[in-house]
Amino acid sequence: MELNDVLRLVRKNIQNLAPYSTARDEYKGALGVFLDANENPFENRYNRYPDPRQLELKGIISGLKGVPVENMFLGNGSDEAIDLCYRVFCTPGKDNAVAIAPSYGMYRVAADINDVEFREVQLGADYSLPVKELLQACDENTKLMFICSPNNPTGNSFPVDEMVGLINSFNGVVVVDEAYIDFAAQPSLLTLLQEHKNLIVLQTLSKAYGLAGLRLGLAFADAEIMSIFAKVKYPYNINLAGMERAKELLARDVEAEIELLKNERLRVSEALEGFACVQKVYPSDANFLLVMVNDARGLYEALINKQVIVRDRSRVKGCEGTLRITIGKPEENDKMLAVVKEWK
Ligand code: PMP
Repeated sequence: MELNDVLRLVRKNIQNLAPYSTARDEYKGALGVFLDANENPFENRYNRYPDPRQLELKGIISGLKGVPVENMFLGNGSDEAIDLCYRVFCTPGKDNAVAIAPSYGMYRVAADINDVEFREVQLGADYSLPVKELLQACDENTKLMFICSPNNPTGNSFPVDEMVGLINSFNGVVVVDEAYIDFAAQPSLLTLLQEHKNLIVLQTLSKAYGLAGLRLGLAFADAEIMSIFAKVKYPYNINLAGMERAKELLARDVEAEIELLKNERLRVSEALEGFACVQKVYPSDANFLLVMVNDARGLYEALINKQVIVRDRSRVKGCEGTLRITIGKPEENDKMLAVVKEWK
């Protein structure tokens, strides 16, 4: 799609929106007597409002991801970016969004909150991408298509050429959620942003980067789309304490942690496959395993009794009989494995 065609998908009221302008948008100098924002002048490190454009932290993330700052949005978790996709592109009560199922639950919750019809398309055999069915589910009011790759909770990635096929065929915005991409064998779609203006890639610092508590989610897209997100978001959506901690913690090397978790994923997967109650361990490109077991609810409760908490997905359509187990530290995984080994 051409950029202009994508911009035409933006809700009329958002196209016409005059955003709130902060006091610091008007004067950019660092030095001065700041009597413009009704702050308390006595220094305590946090008495001033933070940078609404988050340029310093975005600069660091730009270095990590190889994407220019103007192609980036920083949100209060990627959940904020998911919500903004609806608020920017979908007129409540009129437009709809299409998504794969089973997948991450917030796509539906955010659609419901925004009064946007949500159309789910079940994955195919072996959790394959239902390309044809996704396109068939669209009509002239379909503005968004959510694809999660690697997918939560199934763990698999979808073939890049199939996702590109959807981006080329769909006359709306394709949101590819790459929350787990750092654990995947296949590359990110970030390199496709330049040539595909209707692509938004979501990532997060909550998973591989280990900063879930700071709530820092990322969206990447064409600079014009990102400037619309910046217009719609709360002016100071990212707080200064979070940005400072992120800056410190992003300086550490997470590669060793990711490698260890990927090795543990293989070890845990092989161990589970040998246990009597395990029917199937699904292949995973993420930091969790979807496991089909005998009496999933019973095993879930047996694990809780030993203070091992996993996610029961057995009542999710398409995931019947499964638990979703996050890969932890080796000793944590061993504690989980010991319970599953003894289960009937
Ligand atoms: N996308 C997917 C696929 C997820 O699994 C999650 C978290 N479970 C998120 C997004 C949200 O992440 P964040 O912490 O950045 O809001």
